[in-house]
Amino acid sequence: MPKSYFKEYPNEKGYFGEFGGSFLPPHLEKEMNKVNDAYFAISKSHKFISELRSIRKHYQGRPTPVYYCNRLSEKYGGRIYLKREDLNHSGAHKLNHCMGEALLAKYMGKKKLIAETGAGQHGVALATAAAYFGLECEIHMGEVDMHKEHPNVVRMEILGAKVIPVSHGLKTLKEAVDSAFDAYVQDFENSLYCIGSVVGPHPFPMMVRDFQRVVGVEAKEQFFEMTGEQPDNVVACVGGGSNAMGIFSGFLEDEAATLYGVEPAGLSFKTGEHAATMTLGKPGIIHGFKCYVLQDDDGNPLPVYSVASGLDYPGVGPEHSMLKDLGMVNYVSVGDKEAIDAFYELSRLEGIIPALESAHAVAYAFKLAQENRHSSILVNLSGRGDKDIDFVVDKYGLPDV
Ligand SMILES: *Cc1c(COP(=O)(O)O)cnc(C)c1O
Repeated sequence: MPKSYFKEYPNEKGYFGEFGGSFLPPHLEKEMNKVNDAYFAISKSHKFISELRSIRKHYQGRPTPVYYCNRLSEKYGGRIYLKREDLNHSGAHKLNHCMGEALLAKYMGKKKLIAETGAGQHGVALATAAAYFGLECEIHMGEVDMHKEHPNVVRMEILGAKVIPVSHGLKTLKEAVDSAFDAYVQDFENSLYCIGSVVGPHPFPMMVRDFQRVVGVEAKEQFFEMTGEQPDNVVACVGGGSNAMGIFSGFLEDEAATLYGVEPAGLSFKTGEHAATMTLGKPGIIHGFKCYVLQDDDGNPLPVYSVASGLDYPGVGPEHSMLKDLGMVNYVSVGDKEAIDAFYELSRLEGIIPALESAHAVAYAFKLAQENRHSSILVNLSGRGDKDIDFVVDKYGLPDV
C-alpha cells in the first residue's frame, strides 16, 4: 500500500473503496456534516492534540506495555507478544475513542453524550469519559441486555450516567440504537452521539479509527525496541472492528507484517449461531453505512451470536470491508470452544485473564504459532476478563489444574 494510506482513506465523502459513506435522512445528514467539519477543525489543532496526549498519559495510563509471553511461547511455539489494552484505564481499548469523542464534544460546546450499548462495555467507557469531563451522559440499553449485564448497568449509574431502558421489539442492541438516535435527533444542539466502534455513518468510522491509532503507533515502536524487528503477524478480534483498526494502523503502510482479523464462529456456521460477517456476509447497508452484512435475501440483518457479546454484530466497519477486498488483511474465525480454551490458557500460563472477545485473537495466535514455530505474533489484548469470570465458570466449569 502507498505510504499515503491514511490520506487516501476514507475519501471526502467517507468512503473506503465502495464501503462506508452515509445513508441517512437529510436532517441527520446535515448534522453529521457538522460533526465532520468540527472534527477536522478541532482535532488537528495543537491544543486538542496536546490535551488528548496528556489525558492518555496521566489518566489512561498510556502507553500500555507490550509483553512477551514466555510460557505460552514455550508451549505453542513461535514468539507470542501481547499489546496490553487490558491495562488501559477501565480495562479495555474502548476508552481510547471515548476520551477522544468526549474531548471533541467539549470543544464543540456540547453538554451531553448520548449512546447505545449492547453488553454495556461501550456505555461504561463513555460514562467514564463523561465523568472525567463533567458532561451529562445518557446510555440507551435494551431491557433484555440490562438484565443480562446488570453489573455494567450499576457501573454506569455509579459513574453518574443515566441508563434509559428500551422496552420495544426484542429489547436488545438494535432497538437501543434506534432509541439513542431518536434522543439525539431531539437534542442536536446540546449533545453529541458517540459511536462505540468503527461503524455507523461518516465521519464515525474515521474518527474512531483515528482515536484508536495510538494503539498501533505505540505497539510498532515498542515491538521494535524489544526485538529490533517488525512482527511477522499481527492479530486482533473483530466485532465492529475498532481495536483491530487501532493495532492494524501501525502496520498498514509498510506491509512487513501479515494482519489477521478474527471473527466469532460461535457454535457453528448455521444462521443465528455465529457472527462471522466477513466470512459469510455480503455487501449491504446497515445503520446508515455500507459494509459486509450478514443478511437474508431481502437485505434484513440476520440474528447473530457469540459467547463474547462484544463481537456479535451482523455488520462490520467499512474499512475492514475494504481491507478484505484489497487482500490487505486476512479475516478468519474462531469458535466459542477455542476462545474458552484460550481464556483459561492465558490465565493459567501467564496470569492474565482476558476478555472473551480478546480470547478469540489469542486462540488464533496459538494456531499461527503451531503452524510456524519460528514466527513472531503480536496480539492486541483488547480487554480484561473480569466481566466474564462468573459466566465462564458457571457455563463451562473450571478445567483441572
Ligand atoms: C467491545 C469490545 C470488543 C469489540 O469491539 P471492536 O470494535 O471490534 O474492537 C473487543 N474487545 C473488547 C474487550 C471489547 O470490550
